[in-house]
Amino acid sequence: MKRIALLSQRLANQIAAGEVVERPASVIKELLENSLDAGATRLDVEVDHGGVKLMRVRDEGAGIPKEDLALALNRHATSKIFALDDLEKLTTLGFRGEALASIGSVSRLAITSKSREENLESAWKVEAEGQDMTAKLSPAAHDYGTTVEVRDLFFNTPARKKFLKTEKTEFARIDEIVKRLALSRFDVQFNLKHNQRAIHKLLAAKTEQEKQRRVAMVCGPAFVENCVFVDIEGPGLRLWGWVSLPTFSRSQADLQYFYVNGRIIRDKLVTHAVRQAYSDVLFLGRHAAFALYLELAPEAVDVNVHPTKHEVRFRDSRLVHDFLYRSLHKALADVNPSDQLATQSSENYADEKLPASEYGSQSVTELIQQNSFPLAQSRSGGSGFAASNAAMQNQVREQLAALETLNQDGDAIPPLGYAIAQLHGIYILAQNQQGLIIVDMHAAHERITYERMKTACAREELKIQPLLVPLSIAVSQAEADCAETQREVLLSIGLELERVSAESLVVRQIPSLLRDADIEQLVRDVIADVIQHGSSDAVQSRQDELLSTMACHGSVRANRQLTVPEMNSLLRDMETTERSGQCNHGRPTWVFQSIDELDKLFLRGQ
Ligand code: ADP
Ligand code: MG
Repeated sequence: MKRIALLSQRLANQIAAGEVVERPASVIKELLENSLDAGATRLDVEVDHGGVKLMRVRDEGAGIPKEDLALALNRHATSKIFALDDLEKLTTLGFRGEALASIGSVSRLAITSKSREENLESAWKVEAEGQDMTAKLSPAAHDYGTTVEVRDLFFNTPARKKFLKTEKTEFARIDEIVKRLALSRFDVQFNLKHNQRAIHKLLAAKTEQEKQRRVAMVCGPAFVENCVFVDIEGPGLRLWGWVSLPTFSRSQADLQYFYVNGRIIRDKLVTHAVRQAYSDVLFLGRHAAFALYLELAPEAVDVNVHPTKHEVRFRDSRLVHDFLYRSLHKALADVNPSDQLATQSSENYADEKLPASEYGSQSVTELIQQNSFPLAQSRSGGSGFAASNAAMQNQVREQLAALETLNQDGDAIPPLGYAIAQLHGIYILAQNQQGLIIVDMHAAHERITYERMKTACAREELKIQPLLVPLSIAVSQAEADCAETQREVLLSIGLELERVSAESLVVRQIPSLLRDADIEQLVRDVIADVIQHGSSDAVQSRQDELLSTMACHGSVRANRQLTVPEMNSLLRDMETTERSGQCNHGRPTWVFQSIDELDKLFLRGQ
């Protein structure tokens, strides 16, 4: 056995650094948090070679008094808590007093600072030297505030250095950290440079519009154009921020920012609540995007769970989960066409270079561009076409004006406007005040039917309609067994089936909402669903899915000619139906193209 000996100061810190300092980005996180804790309103971050060579963070915060400079490098040295009680009502991002000691033990660290408290002529600089990390102080030039420089990260711990990825990857992580923090403090300016090149310059955002602009710069303009702003209060809780419309989903969960009292966290409970809120509207396997802020009393949440402070523990986790789920569920249900139009015609961010959107936010422009005919084909009409086109436009204008006067409140054309035609038996074309609306007839009708059936089922008011001529269907033995054993469940969703022999069923009643459906196919699909999901418990809890299957069959099929009044009534239903912006599978039910955008398409006025 070897003898026991005290670890050197540096070695002890290096061991602790294993938890806090995983890579350059973790250093940036700690330094920026320190600057924010010091009350900085402007942060300048400069990094070289993905941060491995140099990371420099400058702030004009409170600064560190000369006498405290040396202490700051010690482990368990902090100005943020003094007693255990303080942990309960934490308002700072840091509190463990470990970051600077850990960083200093695995890099060449220098802190230069001038405190606003003292009236000193010059600033002071401190560096840690040797195994016991003794502090070396020297006078330096600096304005009020602090600059921390970290050079040659992991120069003395080669094993850790090996785990670093390419410069590009390490920088991408730093960039992500800066973005996360930038979304947590709109009032602070963030500047980021890599290898002397300016990457971000995010000015402090005060107005709602400026904040939204920052969100667009961090999350991409497509997100802002396809999200709704929420602000909801609950018992001792407030949730606000931006959540994506279900039609703007992503293949990865990479645009999800969640803050608890200003601290970014990744939490299972939160993820679960959000997932559930989107469960009825999101395309399978896709992920929502959001920047959400939860505020609650500091005592109601424990942040001292993990050294990187990425996890938290809620005192009343049930309450938090339900509040999140309910708030978001309602916010998504409440999205109506006029909200969607408002977000779609919001500010244009095209001048900033930002990640492109990927799915779901496809505009009509893109659709038209993808499907446009070669010019030669569309020329056939000649000038006669132009003339009749103008005549038609006039006609349409008159029609709109007439409709407008018909409207009781005089000036309001409904958000989704009025139908003008049906295209290929699939789409409804409508015009509103600002432009063109294209509706996927089946998708929209499906959602409306589904929502009606859900509401009716929940209130136990699902109207059923006996079939005058009961329909017999030949099925397999297994299907007949299922219909027999799950009779009650099927009745609860409005289907009355009776087994008349080993391999045949008779349909006696169906929900009246589905009277136009292909009943035989509907019954087969529902039974297939039920068989797949087994016990009646499971079936009951999947009631929504069964209703969704039925709604799909009960909705207008392609190639059904609709009259203009029928189309208009569908548009009006969409305006008042929850979640009507997406079909039951999360695809959009309608898109909008403003006259301005159409003009651009035809290079008008350019
Ligand atoms: P913690 O943030 O958990 O207190 P750190 O090791 O990160 O521990 O920092 C130690 C102390 O150094 C802080 O408590 C703070 O008093 C001081 N400090 C660090 N960075 C700054 C800064 N940018 N401006 C002012 N004070 C700072
Ligand atoms: Mg800190």
